Parts: sequence; C-alpha cells; structure tokens
Amino acid sequence: METPYSVNARRFLTLLLAASCFGRFVPTALAASPTAAQTQPLPATVFQNVRIFDGKGGQLSAPSNVLVRGNRIERISLTPIPVDRAASTVLIDGGGRTLMPGLIDAHWHAMLVRPPVASLLTADTGYLNLLAGAEATATLLRGFTTVRDVGGPTFGLKQAIDEGVLAGPRIFPSGAIITITGGHGDFRPFTDLPRILGGPLTRQETTGASMVADSPDEVRVRVREQLMQGASQIKLTAGGGVASPHSPLDVSTFTEAELRAAVEAAENWGTYVTVHAYTPAAIKRAIAAGVKCIEHGQLMDESTAKLMAERGTWLSIQPFPDELADAFPRGSEQWQKAQEVFAGTNTAYGLAKKYKLKTAWGTDILFSPGLASKQGALLAKLTKWYTPAEALVMATRSNAQLLAMSGKRSPYPGKLGVVEEGALADLLLVDGNPIADIKLVADPAKNFLIIMKDGKIYKNTLPR
Ligand SMILES: [Zn+2]
Repeated sequence: METPYSVNARRFLTLLLAASCFGRFVPTALAASPTAAQTQPLPATVFQNVRIFDGKGGQLSAPSNVLVRGNRIERISLTPIPVDRAASTVLIDGGGRTLMPGLIDAHWHAMLVRPPVASLLTADTGYLNLLAGAEATATLLRGFTTVRDVGGPTFGLKQAIDEGVLAGPRIFPSGAIITITGGHGDFRPFTDLPRILGGPLTRQETTGASMVADSPDEVRVRVREQLMQGASQIKLTAGGGVASPHSPLDVSTFTEAELRAAVEAAENWGTYVTVHAYTPAAIKRAIAAGVKCIEHGQLMDESTAKLMAERGTWLSIQPFPDELADAFPRGSEQWQKAQEVFAGTNTAYGLAKKYKLKTAWGTDILFSPGLASKQGALLAKLTKWYTPAEALVMATRSNAQLLAMSGKRSPYPGKLGVVEEGALADLLLVDGNPIADIKLVADPAKNFLIIMKDGKIYKNTLPR
C-alpha cells in the first residue's frame, strides 16, 4: 500500500533528481532554454533622442540615446549608439520625450486590491487569483514595474508573472501578514474562536492572507514558513489598524520578544522585518526589537522621528486617499479610525522632512478597483510636501533602496529605480516632462507611451 509518506518521498526524490540533472532547482521546461538563448544575440532596443529623468536628480538630461540589451541598460550616450541591425533590434525615436525609471509602489497588496473584504473571506480561491492576475496586468500598464507586496498570498501570482504566463510587475513578496489574535490582519469572525493551538487553520490562514501567532515560537514558525516560500521581507502588524475589525488604533500588539523572534529569523535569512504601526509606542517597540522599516507611521511624534533618524529606520508612508474612509459607513468605528490616521499625515510628513528620514512611498490601495486606477494620481498628491522631482525620486530610486534591503533574498538581482548603465531595464517613455508637470503620471493610459519591464516592451502607443 502506498502511504502518504511514500508518495511524498517519491515526489521529493523526483525533484532531487531533476535538480541534480540541471544543477539548479528549476522546472525542466525552463532549464532547457538557456542553451538556445546562448547561441542567439540578446535582443536590443535603442531609445533615440530622449531626455532622461534618471530617478536620482531634479534635472532632465540633454537629448540622449539609451541602448537596452537583454534585460539591462547597456549604454547611455549623448551621441548616436551604433547597433547591429538584427531583426530583433528595435529602434525607437523618442522625439525629445522623457525616459524615466518604471515606478515602484512600496506598499502594495496584489491579492487584496480588487475584491471587497467579504469576497476575500468567502469567494472561490481560483476566482480571487484571476482577479489578482487581471489587476497585476493593469498595475504594470499604469507604469508600475515593481511592487513591494506587504501582505497576501502572492507567491503563485509572482511565479506566473516571472514565468511570462501573464503580464505584471516585479513582486517583492512578504507572503502572509503575521498578526496576533485580534490584531490588524485578523479578520476572523468570533465563531472561529477559541483557536486551538495546533488545531485546524482558518480561512484567512489557509489562503495565506494572514497568519496568527501568539508567542515568539509561533512567530518564528510563521516567519520561516514565509521565507521558505520565497518572501523577500517579512511583514508583521505591530499596532492596531483602520480596516481591521478587532484592533483599536491605539493598541500595541506583538510583545518585544515576539518582534525580536521575527527579526532574528528574518536576519538569519539575510533580510528584514517591516511592521505596520501608527503610534509612537508601537513604532518605538518595533525599533527596539530590530525592525528596519515602519509602514504608515501617521501618528508618530517628535521623539519617535528622532529615534528613527538615529537608527536609520525607513518610513514607508502615504497620504491616504479620502475615498478610503468612504469604504466604511460614515460615523462607524472604522470610519473614525480613518479620520484619526488621516489627520496625522501632515505632521508625519513634516517630521519625515525635518529629521531627513529615509522615506519610501506606497499606496496601500485595498479592496477597490476604482482606487487602483488612481495609483499614479496618489503619487502626484505628494507634491503637498515635495517638489515633483522629489516625489518621483521617492517612487523610483528611494523605493528601490528600500527594496535592496532584501539583499540576496531579492528575487531580481540588479539595480532598480534608476536609468543608468548596468541597471535593470524598467523604463517609461513619457509624453511630456513629469518634473514640470507631475500630473502626467496620473493619466498613464494617455501619457506613458512605452512601458518596458526587464527589457521587454509591454506597451507601445508611440505615434509612428
Ligand atoms: Zn497595507
């Protein structure tokens, strides 16, 4: 009789065999292709006559030429770049338009953008995956070539995008959000209580949306499970949240020992922990435990900002769209929590500037395809505190610097968020100058004429 153990053992042996044949742990179909690729020259694209916003400074370059070969920017030159006129070479006359790095959203939830909460908790998993796939393509076509996913079951979606099954952004996945019982990200109904330790998992856990952990040991298990699946960073919720049904805004959730257990497990794996936290208490406790990045931080105070500056802690923040509060009934507890957080935004940005905090930007769009279409418009909202060039630097190079904290756990080795020789070729050709008019990024369908990711053109509406 074949026991489950022997079936698993046989599968494992088959995989091991496949791994030893090809030297790397890759599916056979993919492993076969490098031989063919080695014999052919890498496809090249030349952008001629473009003015470059390189993601670093506030000026556009003089009219330039950019050669992309394979998935990298090979050469940037003020003079024409000679290339072989192979059939695979694409010449693009930029007509003096702007070439800039693909945008990066540092706080995204690829699986949670489109479905309403109720649907997430009850709908068929296949349906939810297809929704997320469609949204991933829409995300890329808004010019977002990379997202840092801070919670949700995105490993399959990421794999499908990376294999070319569907178009979508690069995904830096966190896997499941890790929360405490009743914390932000615990959407269980009371009927699921009490939780039996070691008992069956609930819906939010089996889908990989969020995992409940109530001790350092449980935290370690949950963190390691995400790392095993390919998480590039780990996300915990250190304090209460707006959308969560059970956690008041003012509460701190994980103990310092629990946070420290997560940090230790992540650092052993060469990466870092980021936490959702609004209040000074939650932020300070996280920093004491070794957390490297704070998501949101809208309710921070002067001493918190000072501490973040001293420790070099990242602040990943956003001006939330007013529509987000409308997702909840006016006057409800969640609506009130939203008002409280929104009111802190201006103070937090003021402190971020005053203390020169390492600041990243991400939208945190949830449960709303309507809001998702405003992803670029939300970036333009940063001009309340920053110049258009500063806002664009934040959504490109700065966000890429945050991504680089994943070290060897980055799924995409190479430089992102900049236009420079050797960097990965994620590029947008913009019809106009976004430094002079940042509103251009709010209407990507009209103004982003070319969208390239990893050297491949996904959109080209340049007039011929
Ligand atoms: Zn979030």
